[in-house]
Amino acid sequence: MKLLLVEDEKRMAQALSELLRQERYEVDTCGDGLSGLAAAKEHPYDLIVLDVMLPGMNGFDIAKALRQGGCRTPILMLTAKSELEDTVRGLDSGADDYLTKPFMAEELFARLRALCRRNLPSDDGTLSFGDIALDTHTASLLCTATDRSVRLSEKEYRILQYFIANQRQILTREQLAVKVWGFDSDAEYNNVEVYLSFTRKKLAFVGAKTTIKALRGIGYELRCEDV
Ligand code: CA
Repeated sequence: MKLLLVEDEKRMAQALSELLRQERYEVDTCGDGLSGLAAAKEHPYDLIVLDVMLPGMNGFDIAKALRQGGCRTPILMLTAKSELEDTVRGLDSGADDYLTKPFMAEELFARLRALCRRNLPSDDGTLSFGDIALDTHTASLLCTATDRSVRLSEKEYRILQYFIANQRQILTREQLAVKVWGFDSDAEYNNVEVYLSFTRKKLAFVGAKTTIKALRGIGYELRCEDV
């Protein structure tokens, strides 16, 4: 789980990131609003923890800008007690949950777990989205509506796995190249297109209504309509 922590109080940021790393989160930290927004736009994080009062740009405006830009990564907002009346504003701006400072680490972990639960494989090792399930043991794709399944190639599997893990996000060709191929170059960008079309064919083959939509000039999103 890759997490972005945007917090300007250095000691707080350090203590929190240490705790989060102990919980096996991969943590990036930003100490001001603008770099926080830039980082959130650039990398597909699984979770974002946003302080409200930040130099440069406040947490509400960051959340709002991210949502307007199509980012759907779960956001947990950290508010001070005196800002409690602002909580509604926080949720309105697009945050998914909030936590009032000071808080216990366990409370933070519980909230984060709840926010990312839907992105994790279930106990039987499947990753699900819409009408598809990805078997993480056999690397096969199953359509739960038609009960048809197909084996995936390594790249197809990694593409779908990455989409399901970031299911409310638009992913760019560059992000897919880095995540699936390990680095980005023009050659990899062409590969992304080719493998996306293979993957779409497999989705169609099993009769899934889930598909990878191309959003012109922006990127790709896994979508399931009518389910
Ligand atoms: Ca602050």
